[in-house]
Amino acid sequence: KKLVVLGAGESGVGTAILGKKKGFEVFVSDKGTITDHYKNVLINFEIEWEEQKHTEDKILNADVVMKSPGIPDKVELVKKLYRNGIPVISEIEFASEFTSAKVVGITGSNGKTTTTMLTHHVLKNGGIDVNMAGNIGDSFAKQVVENDTPYYVLELSSFQLDGIVKFAPHIAVLTNITPDHLDRYEYKFENYIASKFRITLNQTERDYFIYDGDDEIIKKYIEEHPIRSRLLPFSLTRKVENGAYLEGEKITITIDNNELTMPTKDLALKGNHNVKNAMAAATVSQLLKIRKTTIRECLENFHGVEHRLENVLKINNVQYVNDSKATNVNATFYALDAMKSATVWIVGGVDKGNDYTELYPLVNEKVKAIICLGVDNSKIINAFGNCVDNIVETQSMKEAVNMAYKIAERNENVLLSPACASFDLFKNYEERGRQFKEAVREL
Ligand code: ADP
Repeated sequence: KKLVVLGAGESGVGTAILGKKKGFEVFVSDKGTITDHYKNVLINFEIEWEEQKHTEDKILNADVVMKSPGIPDKVELVKKLYRNGIPVISEIEFASEFTSAKVVGITGSNGKTTTTMLTHHVLKNGGIDVNMAGNIGDSFAKQVVENDTPYYVLELSSFQLDGIVKFAPHIAVLTNITPDHLDRYEYKFENYIASKFRITLNQTERDYFIYDGDDEIIKKYIEEHPIRSRLLPFSLTRKVENGAYLEGEKITITIDNNELTMPTKDLALKGNHNVKNAMAAATVSQLLKIRKTTIRECLENFHGVEHRLENVLKINNVQYVNDSKATNVNATFYALDAMKSATVWIVGGVDKGNDYTELYPLVNEKVKAIICLGVDNSKIINAFGNCVDNIVETQSMKEAVNMAYKIAERNENVLLSPACASFDLFKNYEERGRQFKEAVREL
């Protein structure tokens, strides 16, 4: 059988290796340039590839095509594949056909990486032989071929879910849904919502669906579209019979009267959004019968994830926090919400059609100064001009951090939480976060 892989990044190359091992005739095609690392891998595995073009004859001859998550459906070549009736699937679909592992699949607009890493941390320490993959680290396909395990925790983007056919996670987690990536969904929020819910598409009564029970979008969708798996919501606002909830300063996870409780002050990750992420991870862990003491210990000692509300340093009693991964408004909402004192906020970058209204109460309450760090800051200045007197514009991370240093006083915070993509001044959000940390360390 002929497998064509479109896109030679981590998931594409992983798929190619797995396909080759399973006896497919594999051809990898990338419209851009392939990094030397991945070229070497393809050469080592004797996989045929091309770059800077797509040779249509060859591609349209495929029995199955794996499309990398970065390639939109509206690309002419992809449309042609659909028109010709050639199955177009994601790496997750392809890899899941070659493993009998039980999968915990985690999706949502925000909190995927944090929840995935936290869940993996608890399961691993609980003695489960488990790998972590998806949007994180080595691809799922590569791990299936090189080091298959009986369990996986997978971080799943909507693009990966778009390309599934039979894939069914035993436990699905949906952290939340807020508008994101609408350019890939014909600017229709309902399309993006439906894409996220594909995580439950092939689940059966024996499976579980863990979700934010406070999220109005999710609740409405569930009311309108029956879900076969067992529902386990988590909530900050109301008691639930099965699932997880917050009451006062304590979280409770309860499944069929089996209860685990834990004070929120013991959770390693701070902020209400992380209470939710912890509840989701603990619910998965309870389902997989991890000892309660282990779950508590792991939620206490998890060291956090780089660029997500990451405490960098305290200088003159000012806490510097790197939340570079906040590339949308909702992520920044939770970052500001987590700040316990006055904050100098570094914000800006490439605007993805942001609506800042939901931030006004928090900005009024907590933000003492705004430092804009983007090529075009006009939207931010217009949006917050009435809330904050002190708004300055900067053109580099160093300048922004130095400015913040001058403004922030004892017991306050300096928060980088851009609410925007990074591509105007940085290669990606990781580089933005690293530059922030370097500039802070230089202070
Ligand atoms: P993702 O992988 O979905 O992008 P991350 O865990 O990398 O999510 O976090 C992305 C951003 O969202 C960070 O700024 C983080 O502080 C914030 N965040 C994390 N969890 C949540 C949540 N449950 N709800 C809203 N924002 C969150």
